[in-house]
Amino acid sequence: MVMRSRSPALQWPPAGPVWWCDQSCCANDRFAATVESYPLAVSRTSGGNRRGHEQWTMTVTAVTDLHPRLRRVTFGADEFATFAAEGPDECFGWLLPTGDRPHLRWYTVRHHRPDRAEIDVDVVLHGDEGPASRFAARAQVGAIAGFRSSGAAYSPPGDGASQLLLGDETSMPALGAIVESLPSGTSGVRAVVEVPDSSWTYRIGGDVAVEWRPRDERPPGSCLLDVVSERPASVGYAWVCGEAGAVRAIRRQLIEGWGLDRRRITFSGYWRQGGPRA
Ligand SMILES: Cc1cc2nc3c(=O)[nH]c(=O)nc-3n(C[C@H](O)[C@H](O)[C@H](O)COP(=O)(O)OP(=O)(O)OC[C@H]3O[C@@H](n4cnc5c(N)ncnc54)[C@H](O)[C@@H]3O)c2cc1C
Repeated sequence: MVMRSRSPALQWPPAGPVWWCDQSCCANDRFAATVESYPLAVSRTSGGNRRGHEQWTMTVTAVTDLHPRLRRVTFGADEFATFAAEGPDECFGWLLPTGDRPHLRWYTVRHHRPDRAEIDVDVVLHGDEGPASRFAARAQVGAIAGFRSSGAAYSPPGDGASQLLLGDETSMPALGAIVESLPSGTSGVRAVVEVPDSSWTYRIGGDVAVEWRPRDERPPGSCLLDVVSERPASVGYAWVCGEAGAVRAIRRQLIEGWGLDRRRITFSGYWRQGGPRA
């Protein structure tokens, strides 16, 4: 399904009440001010983040099904014309309209088209329990949400070290963007993506041949754990993102089994089996 049109009408959120986020990070720390002032067109904080945060409302301009369980939601906002990503795996805080309090979830900017003031977000549809998956499953052109800028994590050392990139279906947008950002002819990069089953396909360009591993009935992260349980390879940098428990186990194996310096590992639990990611 593809729906496309521009809708300038910002009906959400209504004026008046104080806006909250359901995440403890927002309730307790430096982010509180920006969340409470939501939906200011642009707001900033001066906390630990490199550039502070800016946030604005954005409007769904297109919805495209990439797979029955993966949906591309395209958002437009004037601010995307001048927005500058910090790196290929740029993520953002997605403020989701639910009742009178937005929820906050983290997603990847898969594509950014400044000339059209748009971004694409590829969302795994895992059911209606979570507000992000629920929003994406029902997304229609004209729907409103909030964007909070964040940053990127991919940071290989500048010494040409070989790289291991490991991700699952939630991190394949980020891994895909990383691979596509590598210069033509890049060698020494191994990229492995675990997908739920072999029906999943996902377009990743660039020169690195991505290995696809269907986990089928096995627990999330099993195929990625297989990779690091194999004979240790000489790797100088690893990027590991996926289910939080699996990411922890993989990181431990890279450090203890492969002897990789912990400072040369970028890792993030993108989601947590059994509950929302706190
Ligand atoms: C930096 C970063 C970038 C991310 N980028 C993307 C992205 O581009 N695309 C993407 O799809 N996800 C991405 N994620 C993961 C996404 O934020 C989580 O999956 C998030 O929990 C989804 O929110 P929700 O509101 O749908 O569900 P939640 O309210 O967080 O969780 C509700 C329930 O759903 C379960 N659940 C959550 N995610 C999944 C899943 N993928 N599969 C099965 N069960 C799940 C939880 O265990 C919980 O029981 C990213 C995460 C981070 C930290």
